[in-house]
Amino acid sequence: MNTERLSTRLATVASFVETGAVVADIGSDHAYLPCFLVHNGTVQKAVAGEVVKGPYESAVRNVRREGLSSAVTVRLANGLFAIEEGDAVDTVTIAGMGGPLIATILESGKNRLRGVKRIIAQPNIYAKAIREWAVANDWIIYNEAILKEDGKIYEIIVLERGTATYDELQLLVGPFLLQSKSAVFLEKWERELSEWQRVLSSLQQAEQTEAIQARKQELLTHIDFVGKVLAT
Ligand code: SAM
Repeated sequence: MNTERLSTRLATVASFVETGAVVADIGSDHAYLPCFLVHNGTVQKAVAGEVVKGPYESAVRNVRREGLSSAVTVRLANGLFAIEEGDAVDTVTIAGMGGPLIATILESGKNRLRGVKRIIAQPNIYAKAIREWAVANDWIIYNEAILKEDGKIYEIIVLERGTATYDELQLLVGPFLLQSKSAVFLEKWERELSEWQRVLSSLQQAEQTEAIQARKQELLTHIDFVGKVLAT
C-alpha cells in the first residue's frame, strides 16, 4: 500500500469523502488516506492527526516525500484535538481502531466537530459503540458498507447530522447493512454467532456472579437477534 494505491478498506473509506471536502484523518499513522485524497483530486486540503510520536513522524515523512506539505498538515494530537478552528474541516475519517475507541475519541473531542458535516468511521470491532454514540449526539447513520480483505471483515459507517431512532438489531448490525444482507454481512454474523456461542458455553462453567449473568443475558439477546437475521 502507498499514498497512490490504498488497501480496499481505506479506498472504501475514501469513496465516502465528497469532492471538495476538507478532511481530518484521525489516527493517520502513514497519512496514506489524506495523501491519496489529495493525489486523486478529491480534496485540496487535509489534516492528518496522530497521537503516537513514531507513527506521527512516519506521516510527516510520507507527506514530505509526496511533496504534499502545503496540502496535508500533520499534527501530533489526541483524537479530534488535531482539528483547529481555521482548518475549516467538514469531514472526519477515523479508521482501523475498535468501535469503543472511535466512540471515545468522538465523545471527548466533540466540541471540535462544530463545522463537521460528515464522519466516516471504520471500526475493526464493535461498530455498535459508534452507532450508539451517533444516536446520543444527534447524528444519523447516512450510509454503511461492509467488505472483506485478506480474510478480515470491515464495516464502514457514514454519519451526518440529524436525529433518528434505531432498534437494538439495527444498532448491532447496521440499518443499511441489514437491509442489503450481502454475502459478507452474512459471513460476519455467522462468525460472530459461533464466537458468542463458544463464549456463552464457557460462561456456563464460570461462577455465576451478577456480571457473568448480565454478560450471558446480553449474549443470549444478541444470539437471538442475529440467529433470526440469518434464518430469514
Ligand atoms: N487509520 C490508519 C488505517 O486505518 O490504516 C491507521 C490505523 S492504526 C491501526 C491506528 C492508529 O491510530 C495508530 O497509529 C494509533 O497510534 C492511532 N491512534 C490511536 N488512538 C488515537 C487517538 N486518540 N488520537 C489519534 N490517533 C490515535
